[in-house]
Amino acid sequence: MISVESCIHCHKCRKSCAFLSKYMIDICDTEKLKELAYHCFLCGKCTAVCPVGIDGRQLIMEFRRERSLTDERASIEKKNRSLIREKKDYIYRNWKHVTAGTVFFPGCNFPSMYPKTNAALAKLFEKYGIGTVYECCGKPIGELGFADDEEKIISGIRKRMKNAGVTEIVTACPNCMAFFGDRLGIRVRSVYDKLNEIGEGNILTGDMEFYLPCPDRSDHKWIEEIKKFIDGTVTVNDSAECCGLGGSAIRLEKEIADGFVEKLRESTERNLFTYCASCVGRFRRSGLRTSDHVLPLIMGIDEQPDIMKSYINRVFTKIK
Ligand code: SF4
Ligand code: SF4
Repeated sequence: MISVESCIHCHKCRKSCAFLSKYMIDICDTEKLKELAYHCFLCGKCTAVCPVGIDGRQLIMEFRRERSLTDERASIEKKNRSLIREKKDYIYRNWKHVTAGTVFFPGCNFPSMYPKTNAALAKLFEKYGIGTVYECCGKPIGELGFADDEEKIISGIRKRMKNAGVTEIVTACPNCMAFFGDRLGIRVRSVYDKLNEIGEGNILTGDMEFYLPCPDRSDHKWIEEIKKFIDGTVTVNDSAECCGLGGSAIRLEKEIADGFVEKLRESTERNLFTYCASCVGRFRRSGLRTSDHVLPLIMGIDEQPDIMKSYINRVFTKIK
């Protein structure tokens, strides 16, 4: 990782980030940044704009990990009790339908928000001998800085996948893919890439505007795969750094998180599409009604995000 010593003090990171601007700091202000590590949305925009390649997101993650090894751990756990209770050892885990070869891994939020589309995908994949696994990838726990728990989650998933003979994971969540990276030793690909390979999914006609979820902002891998289902011009709306849910920072920086949604609301009058169920849930809960997930449309399912019953839907994945 390139050291902060290489910083040329251009302030590009500060100018592109509402959190750094609020505290009048740059990524190289490490002392203050460490103190504020849990106020960061971990969106990665600072990393993307830095002309010398300093990875601000990674640096902040290291600060979180350091802080979680101190006496502060108990207080971090207390503040994130419900998240930890659900996701540290995912309580709605369901591997009954795991198959050797390829598995569908929708993540924990897509089936919560879009149960009908998720069921349609599971049924479609079943036709191709692909089972569905209900599991949380562990990103929300990892982002708290709990490296020990993160490793346990990853090694648990790796072991279950290997024992079942899984050689390919198809996910509906860009966060799951980014979090796994190559740590499982198994190929991870997007649901759009797989649908395209097997010749399934509708072609959508017309121009569409997209908000890119944080993990896809730099390499555009997912949006390029989605474009294969769109017969029209795709434009990217990059007016906000994050939907507001990243890094569990919303509790400490609600105003900034709400500001992201405001920026999106003010930047367009068109319907805003995305491909992260958490982002759509956040936008809809914040009153941005003109936001939609593209996957139900590609699957030909008329479904709005179920923000009222998302938790119940997640509970039901355990008994599918
Ligand atoms: S909120 Fe995003 S841009 Fe700002 S410091 Fe954190 S990762 Fe970087
Ligand atoms: S963008 Fe990079 S070089 Fe510029 S101030 Fe921030 S950390 Fe330093």
